[in-house]
This record gives sequence, structure tokens and C-alpha cells, in this order.
Amino acid sequence: MTVPTFAHYNLDAPGSRYALNTPALVLDLDAFERNVETMADIMRAHGKNLRPHAKSHKSPTIAKAQIAAGAVGCCCATLDEAEVMAAAGIAGILITSPVTTALKIDRLIALAGRTPDTMVVVDNPANVEALAARAAAAGIRLNVIIDVELGFGRTGVTSPEAAVSLGETMKTLPSLAYRGLQAYGGHIQHTIDPDERLALCRQAHLKIDAVISALAAIDMKPDIVTGGGTGSHAIDAREGPFTEIQAGSYILMDAEYETVIYRSGTAWPFENALFVQTAVISTNVAGSVTTDAGTKAFALNGPPPRVVSPGLEAATYSYAGDEHGRLHLHDAAHPSIGEVIECVVPHNDPTVTLYGQYHCVRGDKLVALWPVLARR
Ligand code: PLP
Ligand code: MN
Repeated sequence: MTVPTFAHYNLDAPGSRYALNTPALVLDLDAFERNVETMADIMRAHGKNLRPHAKSHKSPTIAKAQIAAGAVGCCCATLDEAEVMAAAGIAGILITSPVTTALKIDRLIALAGRTPDTMVVVDNPANVEALAARAAAAGIRLNVIIDVELGFGRTGVTSPEAAVSLGETMKTLPSLAYRGLQAYGGHIQHTIDPDERLALCRQAHLKIDAVISALAAIDMKPDIVTGGGTGSHAIDAREGPFTEIQAGSYILMDAEYETVIYRSGTAWPFENALFVQTAVISTNVAGSVTTDAGTKAFALNGPPPRVVSPGLEAATYSYAGDEHGRLHLHDAAHPSIGEVIECVVPHNDPTVTLYGQYHCVRGDKLVALWPVLARR
């Protein structure tokens, strides 16, 4: 396969945005940069740090742009992401899921040896013991954060007592450095109704407060309290017990977040910056055309792609195969064979992973290619 590179594209030429190797991942740099600044401003206004989640973009270039705007590092969902970010020279990495297998623990310890401020979450005493043993054998201190479960039922300790018990275990293990708490409500972020989201955030804040108090009582008051995503960032920053927010999707936005009401009567302060560009490959069926972007071009776990190309906004998208999409035209203009169409993606994080690079655009020009380096 020929991966299009600078040599294949006419960078900075008028119209070069629409001469890509479709299906192509497109990043609107102007919108992206505004999103980065807007979130940085919101966090500054509330006196909170921002450790944005790299799971959304998987690109050291993007993590560095966020850090340049004031972020204190980046979160990583996987060890693979963390290794890529660290290799690119990014400091302040927090791995937000437990690292539990022997192979990965060895890699984590090696990573922490190279990048000593790396942090990892824990929620299990046996895992804590295993991490401590490997860190001690390597002669390092590993930074750990206790993960607190907030109602999603995914990871984290499920009570203040469990947090205290884990804390007591950690006190006996000098190869671990306790840094604080993570509390991320995965069930909150895409709650459509803003009042319901506010209520869920407040319930979550009470749970976190109880854990903080219980840990303070054993002399383990957390320095870092990290959590929150794009859906909850404003509430969490305004009234939550957090020292920092982990939002990720805000830089790109997607069709899933478009279904979420930011505040009643108020639009999201973030813009769509991520698109998939697809080309029409067949036009023989009345009422629809077929494009070259199917289930290998868009992650499926979200609403359908939303068509944004001028004149085609009324068209709706459905999947027609692994490499095929169906554009139902309704009242939209009839696109011609070979025409390229841009869509907001259903869900940003797993869509980005399907591509090797971002085609970075400003207006109608392709201006840069940024690799998606951390695809696992
Ligand atoms: N923190 C954690 C632990 C996550 O799993 C995620 C996303 O799934 C985020 C932060 C970022 O959330 P969002 O992409 O909604 O901003
Ligand atoms: Mn997501």
C-alpha cells in the first residue's frame, strides 16, 4: 500500500484539501487551535490544571500543542499510548487504566525508569503488590494514583473503606509513591440532559469527597485529584473536588458529543475539528449515492456520520459495507461521481485509530500531515 506522504500531495495549494487519498482523516487546524485555547481558558478561569486525554487523538504533536497552551502533561488509556508519548519527550503522563499483566508491568517499570514522573492508576491490592515488587527490583519509585469508581462499574475502588485499605497497603511499600486519586465518571460524559448531567456530577463529587476525607484521616490526603471529561468539564472545574481535568474529545468533537446538550440554550464552546473525507464511487441507484467509507473508515459506536459538505447537509449516512457508505440524498444536491464529501465522525477516539495520519487543513488547503502514532 502506498501511504500518501508529502511527495503525493500538493501542500498549501488552493483546493488541496479536496485532493486526498480517501477515505481520509481530516483535522481542521484553525478549529482545533481554537478548541485548545478555549479549554485552556476555562481551566485557567477555574484555577484547575488540565491533563488532557491522549486517547482521543493518539498524536504526540497534538499533546505537545496542548502542553504549549498550559496543559500539565497528558493522560493515556494504554501503556502503548504512554510509551509513544514518552518517546516523543512528553512529561506528566498519567496512565488512566490499571496495568496488570506481567509483560506490561515490566514495560511500565522500564518506562517509569526512563520517565520518572509517569503515574499509573491502581484499584487492586494484588496489583499494587506486583507493581511494588517490580519497582523495588528495578530500584525505582513508581508514582501511583488510587482509582475511584463513580457508578459506571468499570474500574476503581468502590468505597472509602476500600480506598483506605489500598492506601494502608501502599504505606508498607516504599517502592511506590502515592500521588492522589483519579475519579472518572464514564457514565456522565454523554448524558444528554444538562440537568441530569449536573445531578450525576454532584453525586460523583460527594463520593469523591468521602474518599478524600477517609484518606485524609489516615494521613493520605491526595495531592492530585484527577478526572472529568468533555461532558462534565465545566461542572467538574467549577464545583468538583478536582485539582485537574482529563477531558480529551473537546479538541476534535464528534457526532456523539453533538447529541449532548452543553447547557440549555447554550451551544458547546468547542467546534468540530475532525472529519472523514470520502469519495462517491457509484451513482446508479435513485435517491442515494455510494461512497468509499464504510465500517473501516468510521468507528460504529456513535450516531451515524454527519455530512457537512455544502449543499449536502440534508443527506444522511448509513453503512453499506466494510468499504462502502450509502448517502441518502433526501432533499440534498446530487453529488457527482468522484466528488468528495466530508463528515463529522460518529465517535472520535476509535475513528482516529483507523487511520495512519491526520491530513491537517486550513481553509481549503492541506498544510501538514501528522502521524497517528499510538494506534493501540
Ligand atoms: N478520562 C478517562 C479515564 C477516560 O476514559 C476518558 C474517555 O473515555 C476521558 C478522560 C476523556 O473523556 P472525553 O473524551 O469525553 O473528554
Ligand atoms: Mn470516547
